[in-house]
Amino acid sequence: MDRILVTEKIAAEGLDVLRRGGEVDVKLDLDKAALIGVIGQYDALVVRSATKVTADVIEAGTKLRVIGRAGTGVDNIHVETATRRGIIVVNAPASNNIAVAELTIGLLVGLARSIPQAHASLQSGKWERTKFSGWEVRGKTLGLIGLGRIGSEVAARARAMEMTIVAYDPVVSLDRAEQIGVELLTLDDLLSRSDVVSLHVPLVDGTRNLIDAARIAKMKKGAYIINASRGGVIDEAALLAALEAGQLGGAALDVFSQEPPPADAAITHHPKIITVPHIGASTAEAQISAGSEVAEGVVAALSGATPRYAVNAPFVAPEAWGVLQPYLSLGRQMGRLICQMIQSPVRSYDLELRGELADIDSHPIRLAVLQGLLEASSPERITPVNAPLIARERGVRLTERTDPDAESYSGLLVVRVQTADQAHDFKGTVLRGEPHIVQADGYFVDFVPQGALLFTYHRDRPGMIGRVGTLLGGADVNISGMYVGRLAPREQAMMVLTLDEPASPEVLAQVEAEEDIQRSICVVL
Ligand code: NAD
Repeated sequence: MDRILVTEKIAAEGLDVLRRGGEVDVKLDLDKAALIGVIGQYDALVVRSATKVTADVIEAGTKLRVIGRAGTGVDNIHVETATRRGIIVVNAPASNNIAVAELTIGLLVGLARSIPQAHASLQSGKWERTKFSGWEVRGKTLGLIGLGRIGSEVAARARAMEMTIVAYDPVVSLDRAEQIGVELLTLDDLLSRSDVVSLHVPLVDGTRNLIDAARIAKMKKGAYIINASRGGVIDEAALLAALEAGQLGGAALDVFSQEPPPADAAITHHPKIITVPHIGASTAEAQISAGSEVAEGVVAALSGATPRYAVNAPFVAPEAWGVLQPYLSLGRQMGRLICQMIQSPVRSYDLELRGELADIDSHPIRLAVLQGLLEASSPERITPVNAPLIARERGVRLTERTDPDAESYSGLLVVRVQTADQAHDFKGTVLRGEPHIVQADGYFVDFVPQGALLFTYHRDRPGMIGRVGTLLGGADVNISGMYVGRLAPREQAMMVLTLDEPASPEVLAQVEAEEDIQRSICVVL
């Protein structure tokens, strides 16, 4: 049974999910030495933000297959080392969406009606009704910079308040923006048209100080700005100067360039700035959802499936998930089959994604095939995470193309193996949700690629099946299924036997010694 170490407090719902994947030990407050001391016993590690999962911790985790972060940022995990070692890092990026979106709306209304200032005034014994005359958000233009998970949720809520919503996001498509009722603009147009600008971008090199003096100057005079994303995306000095000059009417901040800000920081004491101490994700629901989301990712990774939110493995869009999942398993099994069946040196692998596969993001399938091709011949553990790296190191060439024609199948995965003198074609599909190989080394067959399989390359003759069956029976090897693919009657053929247990080299030698059998091979998947 897999063992899972949890080093920080996560929601009970998350622990329940984890227990479905293995034996769970919760050890809070381990220091680094203690963590290094125990990590070698565990297959999975689950942390929040306090545990520093450094390179040496990961190196000591010789059995580790997955590291889970209950939350979004993975700054406390040395992802590069995890990737090199084939360890999947999963997080819970969607768990905070609603919490942050609702806080953003709260900050928006707080700005419009000066709620915090009015509250403070009343608490100090004053009754200043005229001072706190505000403005309505209805009919105002909200400019969202970043239209990802949180930006989209803010848009949905702002629409209900009858705002006009515009957005700038270099990645989001026009179709997607249309779907959520948002007009996509250039950044300059967004700045000049918005009454309120709200930031929902990650902090990366391209977004550091995204809102600086020059961009603030492009905003409407007296406009407002909200930041519940990351501190560094606003130049705080420029923001303070713009508020002083009256260029901006106010700002609301959940995040700061330095957290916590110094006690006397101007940014937390300015009368036109509403501040809260990075509480965007701090709701009971978000904590539960972070725990369950990360636990589901950890359990999926332990079971060999591709988790939905992996930091160092391909992201699979939720709408593609159902279609993709069985093909990931097919791709991996095809890779494993091919590397055992083709024993001549390989020049290249050509991957064709046909039919329904031609229209979806195929990157995860490519990784699954690579994983399968590499794993049998690698001393290190191969996962979709480190497969591209190892493939590059070994000079494995895998080209890729798509074709809408899938013969009579809805989707077809084709791998052509080019050896020095020959091409070997393998084709697979998904039937009733189950992977099937429908062509093996050029022969038309139909079998489920799992367990022990015996292949013979032989000349089609009467009695051939019986002879092989007798040999296997004599060695107490049970046959569970049989398929024959032949080029023409009494010509070259392939027999595929699914076995309850692998055939020994001695039995294979006996099979190969039979007349008209050129080669026999036992593959274990
Ligand atoms: P996301 O990855 O779903 O969306 C981010 C979007 O920003 C993407 O669509 C991306 O294309 C876009 N983007 C990237 N660079 C851009 C640029 N230069 N200009 C415009 N758009 C750009 O992320 P998300 O889950 O929506 O999170 C958004 C932000 O909120 C992140 O910074 C995250 O760290 C932060 N966050 C804050 C809290 C909090 O407690 N306040 C909690 C969770 C997340």
